[in-house]
Amino acid sequence: MQVITTIKDMNAFSKATKAEGKNIGFAPTMGALHKGHISLIGNSVEQNDVTVVSIFVNPTQFGPTEDFNKYPKDHKGDMKKLSNLDVTAVFLPDVAEIYPKGFSTFVYVGGIGCILCGASRPDHFNGVATIVTKLFNIVMPDRAYFGQKDYQQTVVIKKIVRELAMNIDIVVCPIVREDDGLAMSSRNAYLSDEERNAALILNKALEYGKGLMLSGREEKANHIKEKMGAFIKAESLVTIEYVEIVGPVYLENIKEVKTPAVILLAAKVGTTRLIDNMIVE
Ligand code: AMP
Repeated sequence: MQVITTIKDMNAFSKATKAEGKNIGFAPTMGALHKGHISLIGNSVEQNDVTVVSIFVNPTQFGPTEDFNKYPKDHKGDMKKLSNLDVTAVFLPDVAEIYPKGFSTFVYVGGIGCILCGASRPDHFNGVATIVTKLFNIVMPDRAYFGQKDYQQTVVIKKIVRELAMNIDIVVCPIVREDDGLAMSSRNAYLSDEERNAALILNKALEYGKGLMLSGREEKANHIKEKMGAFIKAESLVTIEYVEIVGPVYLENIKEVKTPAVILLAAKVGTTRLIDNMIVE
């Protein structure tokens, strides 16, 4: 496994790979790797000649009061996990390599980045779109792998790929959960035992909402959202940011229950912000 830290070397690696007629699968991550990340990498290894993984905690997708400076890091653990997989190269740039002094070019995604998570994280999706575009230009993948865990992110990325005519297939992989249902996330490392236990309410609420949607007894999405909200509020350590039921492609709010749809939620458990979602079809 090659460890590459500069844009120039990463570019050279990708050009040489393509010159050999091999295709490239790419899984961008922010590190502190867990089984969710590993599933993206596993899919890429299966479906491509060469797999590149990036680890870069992207400052432009964090708000000024968010956890950029204390974001979980596990360099040794990450390298060990990656070396057990068939990863060909790891791209590990530092912030100055990606955002040199004077950097000022951004990808703006418009309204899709202002709803749901974007309502409380105003520049988050512009930061995501900018780093993903830059990483795509550097790595030049044929396929790129993202997790359904960040559902809105997958919608935004598919949109920029479509609208900016990037010649890359976006592959969305299912959410990987702990045995008790908690969606895996690097941020779960912030949770105390008590908070981790409280966080289980999020997946349970999604299952509950999905059951209501499929029961045929509820016609109004608002009723389901209210019931889910009341269900979550029983857990005093959890503060809901939003619970929404939306269409799977454009994320428009659904009023009358129909499928396919996605139930999305964000909540603070203690001080840790977690997101989760469930596709209903
Ligand atoms: P992150 O390191 O949190 O930026 O995540 C990197 C990629 O891994 C993103 O495409 C995430 O959606 C994906 N991912 C994170 N957690 C999970 C999970 N529990 N299941 C599936 N994919 C995940």
